[in-house]
Amino acid sequence: MMFISARLSALSGEFEDAAVERAFREERFPETARQARLLFFFSIVLNTLFLASDWRFFGAPHFYVAVPARCAVILVAIVAYCGARRCRSRVALERWLIAWEAVTALGVGALVTSRSDIALFVVLMLPSIYYLVVPTGFLWTAIGGVGCSLVMLLGYTLPGGSETALGMTFAIVMLNVALMLTVTNSNRLRRLEWSAIRSERLARTRLADSQKMLEAVFSALPAPLIVGDLTNGRVLRANQAARGCFGDAADLESLNLADIRMDPADRAQFRRILETERRVSGFEASIGGPDGTRRELLISAAPIEDAGVAGVVMCGVDISERKAAEARLERLATTDALTGVANRNHFFARAEAEIRRAARYRRPLSVLMVDLDHFKRVNDEHGHAVGDAVLAEFAMLCARLLRADDLIARYGGEEFVALLPETDEQGAIAVGHRLREAATQIRLPAGSASRRLTISIGVSPVLAGDAAIEAALARADEALYQAKAAGRDRVVASAVAAADVEAA
Ligand code: GH3
Ligand code: MG
Ligand code: MG
Repeated sequence: MMFISARLSALSGEFEDAAVERAFREERFPETARQARLLFFFSIVLNTLFLASDWRFFGAPHFYVAVPARCAVILVAIVAYCGARRCRSRVALERWLIAWEAVTALGVGALVTSRSDIALFVVLMLPSIYYLVVPTGFLWTAIGGVGCSLVMLLGYTLPGGSETALGMTFAIVMLNVALMLTVTNSNRLRRLEWSAIRSERLARTRLADSQKMLEAVFSALPAPLIVGDLTNGRVLRANQAARGCFGDAADLESLNLADIRMDPADRAQFRRILETERRVSGFEASIGGPDGTRRELLISAAPIEDAGVAGVVMCGVDISERKAAEARLERLATTDALTGVANRNHFFARAEAEIRRAARYRRPLSVLMVDLDHFKRVNDEHGHAVGDAVLAEFAMLCARLLRADDLIARYGGEEFVALLPETDEQGAIAVGHRLREAATQIRLPAGSASRRLTISIGVSPVLAGDAAIEAALARADEALYQAKAAGRDRVVASAVAAADVEAA
């Protein structure tokens, strides 16, 4: 962040923060070194050519000034060039540049004492080179530029004085001011550009980092996560957990959201919620896996924009185990442990719903009270374990004989109760007879007084005035009592008890 907010000096155009300025210069060092070498190289070449032109002074006193001065300028350029080639640090390079500037300025200062036409041109040109071409920091650029200008001015005007000295001075001052402004402006522009590039690079790195982190979170998440295109259903992204859950890991990209094996009704409802509420949370659905297994998922979804595509991100939590545990608990709470048929509580819950339904639609509904005859004897003769087995076998027999909509429940001990929807009294009596006959097929172990199991049944329809099932149960119980009293192994209907007694 420090590079983005770095301030520039109004005077030099350089960074006010020394550390930032250092970083800027360090980064540009190879470029600076290259420019310095080129500068020294051209200084060698051009001054060598000038040495030839200096021969025109041969014989004149200036010749003895010009040639040594030119040689010094060439020599310092050669030494600086060699030094710069070996130079690995910015500070050392700057020292070579300053040394070159000093010696060259003095040498050229001696040369311009000739006051030739070309000398006047050089007086203006050399400071310009120091300002614009020599790659030193602003301070040394200014010192070099001003120093060079002074030496040039003195060299040109001092010998014998000059009537244009004042004019020359003003011209050189103007040149210095203009060049300094140019340097400042160029410094500013280069640094602003550098800052912008740095900021962009930094932002891009951060973006890449955060994308990498998001990617890592996405793939490490143990819950299935899918991003899909809502317009064509194509799966755009899916994490490892989703691959295990929805499809073949290698083939997932060819998977369509429509291929996710969700119940059609669930799918329609899911879409409706997503479209109307813009997000789905805690949606329970059963999803088929690639291996044919089904999982219960708690799904959350939200619409997203992914590279301009209207998509949806869906995350699921596998709640199969929780659902299985719930189902187990529900089974435990509603079934009788010994016989596996419904327990008393479940019977009353179902009965309440059935009695309401029967009343609303005026449909028949009946109950049977079933009691195993002389069951105490079975226990006494064969032991409790055999008694238990007989109870379980009888319960299963009832469950098999009754229709899917009927309900058989263990009412307590060796007493069972059956709820028969859509069944009037006559129908219930017929069911009773079927149960009674079937019970006789249950074989008791050898050695009992009677090897045949018999049962007594009391039947009662639910009447229009019955507010609760207990009323019908009481009548059925009364009929059962009559069946027992009449000798057992029979079906007795409550309302028509006497008429319907069937002899054993
Ligand atoms: P009745 O024909 O008059 O019904 O004679 P009963 O012997 O069947 O009637 P009673 O009510 O005197 O006895 C019921 C017996 O059922 C007593 C008890 O030992 C037995 N019983 C009740 N619950 C269970 C059970 O869970 N397992 C076993 N093995 N026997 C049970
Ligand atoms: Mg009994
Ligand atoms: Mg009993």
